Amino acid sequence: MPLLQLDKIHISFGTQHIVRGVSLQLEAGEIGCLLGPSGCGKTTLLRAIAGFQGLQLGTITMANECVSSANQLTPPEQRGIGMVFQDFALFPHLTVAENISFGMRKASAAERRARVDELLTRIGLPGYQKRYPHELSGGQQQRIALARALAPKPRLLLLDEPFSSLDAELRERLAVEVRELLKQEQITALLVTHDQQEAFAMADKAGVMYQGELLQWETPYQLYHQPRHQLVADFIGHGVLLQGTVNASGSLASPLGMLEHPSLLTVPDGTPVSFLVRPDDIVPDTNSRLRGRIKARGFRGAHNLYSVQLNSGIEVLTLSPSHEQMNVGDEVGLRPEFDHLVVFAADHCELPG
Ligand code: ATP
Repeated sequence: MPLLQLDKIHISFGTQHIVRGVSLQLEAGEIGCLLGPSGCGKTTLLRAIAGFQGLQLGTITMANECVSSANQLTPPEQRGIGMVFQDFALFPHLTVAENISFGMRKASAAERRARVDELLTRIGLPGYQKRYPHELSGGQQQRIALARALAPKPRLLLLDEPFSSLDAELRERLAVEVRELLKQEQITALLVTHDQQEAFAMADKAGVMYQGELLQWETPYQLYHQPRHQLVADFIGHGVLLQGTVNASGSLASPLGMLEHPSLLTVPDGTPVSFLVRPDDIVPDTNSRLRGRIKARGFRGAHNLYSVQLNSGIEVLTLSPSHEQMNVGDEVGLRPEFDHLVVFAADHCELPG
C-alpha cells in the first residue's frame, strides 16, 4: 500500500489548466523529487497534497484513505503532513529549542526536550537549544527548519525548494545529509527543486513536470539513462539531440556515422528519429575517423567537459579525465560508444523497443 498516491489529478485556475492528469506513488519511507522549469505547477501540486488547494478531477490518497477529490478536501491539519518551504522563516523571537518544539504542543515538556535534543544531535547541532535564529548561519537555520518540521513525526514531509537560498556547495552537502536524516527517521518525503543534482542526491523516485504534466516518474537512474520523453532528456543532464534515420539493417544513419544498437531492430526502416548523445556516449580517440575541433573546455574536478564542433558543423559534448588535458582549438578524434541508445520519434516520445 503506497503512503501517497495521486491518481490523474487536475487543477485549474479559471481557464488555465495548471496540473494536468498527474499520477504518482510514494511507498512509505521513500523520497520523491519533482523537477521542472519555473511555472510548470510543482508548488501547486505540493499545495494540493498538503490540502491547501482543491482538485477538479482525480484523487489524492494517503495510506489508503482518500484525502482530496473533486468533492472532498480533508483539512491540512488532519493530514499529518510536515512542510519546509523556500522562505522557511524561523520564529525570530523563539530559541532554537522553542522553534523545533513549536508543533509539539500536545507532548509533555520532557518529551519535547528529549525530541529537541535527539533532533539537534541528528542534524549535527547539539548544544544549540538556547540560540536564537539570528545567531545561526543560513545552512544552520535551514537544518533547524527541517528539525521543526520533523519534530511532530509527520507521516509525510513536503519540501519546496528548501535549499534554494543556499550556495551550491552547501546545497549539495545538505541534500546528502537530509536524505540520511529522513532515512533514519523513516519519513516519506516529496521534494520540489529546480536542481537536478539535488534531486539525484536525494531521490528514490523522481519526475520531470512540464506545463502541468508529469512526463515520467521513475528512479533518477531511469530518468537519466532511459528518458521516455525528449523534454525529460533536455531537462536532465548535458545531452545533445541529433537527428538520424533508421535503415533496413537496423542501424541508424547519423551525423556520427552508422550507429548499431539492438534497440533499433524493432524500429521500422526509414523512421526519422532524434537521438540523445550524452558526454559519456562519445569518447576521445585519436584513431577515429570522426573528427572535430575543441570549442570550449570546462573543469569538472575529475573530468573536463569539452564542447567539440565536428567537421560537419554539429556540436557534441565529451568528457575526459582532467589530467589528460586538451586545449581549445585542438583537433580531436571521437568514437561513439553507446551503452543504451535513447531514440525519440517525431512526437518526442521514446520509441518502443
Ligand atoms: P516555480 O518553480 O517558479 O516555483 P512552479 O512550478 O512551482 O514554479 P506554480 O507555483 O505551481 O509553479 O505555478 C504554476 C502556474 O500556476 C503559474 O503560472 C502560476 O502563475 C499559476 N498559479 C499558481 N497559483 C495560482 C492561483 N492561486 N491563481 C491563479 N494562478 C495561479
